[in-house]
Amino acid sequence: VHRFVGIPTAPPDSILGLTEAFLADKNPSKMNLSVGVYKDASGQTPILKCVKEAERRLIENEATKGYLSIDGLPDYREQVRSLVFGDSLDAGRVAILQTPGGTGALRVAADFIVAQLSPTRIWMPSPTWANHPAIFAAAGLASETYRYLGSDRTSFDLAGMLEDLSEKTKPGDAVLLHACCHNPTGVDPTPEDWKAIAKTVAERQLIPLIDFAYQGFGDGIEQDKTGLNTILEAVDEAIVCNSFSKNFGLYSERVGSVCLIAADAETTKAAHSQLKTIVRTNYSNPPRHGGAIVATVLQDAELTKLWQQEVDEMRERIDALRQQFVETMKNTGSGHDFSFLLKQKGMFSFSGLTPMQVDELKSKHGIYIVGSGRINVAGMSEDKMDSLCQAVASVL
Ligand code: PMP
Repeated sequence: VHRFVGIPTAPPDSILGLTEAFLADKNPSKMNLSVGVYKDASGQTPILKCVKEAERRLIENEATKGYLSIDGLPDYREQVRSLVFGDSLDAGRVAILQTPGGTGALRVAADFIVAQLSPTRIWMPSPTWANHPAIFAAAGLASETYRYLGSDRTSFDLAGMLEDLSEKTKPGDAVLLHACCHNPTGVDPTPEDWKAIAKTVAERQLIPLIDFAYQGFGDGIEQDKTGLNTILEAVDEAIVCNSFSKNFGLYSERVGSVCLIAADAETTKAAHSQLKTIVRTNYSNPPRHGGAIVATVLQDAELTKLWQQEVDEMRERIDALRQQFVETMKNTGSGHDFSFLLKQKGMFSFSGLTPMQVDELKSKHGIYIVGSGRINVAGMSEDKMDSLCQAVASVL
């Protein structure tokens, strides 16, 4: 007997599936504004100059392909500590493990919560990145949602979020927070909002799981730590998942980290050992190359400066595209004001386009947008802006 016969086909990933359709589309003026990858003016996802130089040095000096330890490259982990947490946090209170991307970090964090903190539930913003609930479900972690996006679909519903966190959670529940550049909306709390969120998180004794996948894409590398710092000032215990996919352009190298902050060094050590157990039974140890690149850049003052410039360039280009889109839409005479896009941060924005409009953009114009109306602003280009805006105006 064939036991595999009859296995049903899984639905395609909602976002990566669109890219498959995009690649098959023969429309010469097609545009992919779905998947969250940065593109430069020529439509390429470039390798950063600082990364190329670090790789050149690595190839020259690399002496082994031996396994890394379970928690990854020590130099990398030290650089993550200083980049993400700086000197404000006692190093003994942070356990850092290099992981395969931010996704790997989130999965290790979810496994840890299930193994050590059960019966904890996790509260996620509504909406959130589609892979969040999927990762938590795969780990067996029950999830619930709290209000996040206002009913106008363009602003932050602070009051709704605080009400849900205050009234629906139980002490010891986990709460997922996007540190900056909320995916999929681009709607972020202000520094004042973060203070109110931190206060509620502390009062309700919630464990923050902070997803930090876009450091540098909001207001700047340091500025984007505002939310994280505000939360860490208010609580003793937290988990932070970071990713270098976007801000180093290292998408396919799979490099990120899971960082656990505990109240004292002894607890941190014990938790660190449990995190290692999770990794050992999952992928054993992380890949070397991406972590070695990040460590090489951040250990070198000149390469770090170059990296900072390159991150600034990506962020400023996205901001300019937002501006250009809003202006060009104004000129189409559609009468629809998109200036709310200027307040949103990072690669993504909720455009307010409906599933029907999104469908029409795809079938008639070869413009690919996620069904929720989420647009990857970094997928726009200066020279195609007119045709994009004409198409959007035609479906409004
Ligand atoms: N969190 C969020 C909010 C994301 O948007 C992403 C990437 N799309 C990730 C985490 C993980 O990214 P990666 O696994 O590619 O590092």
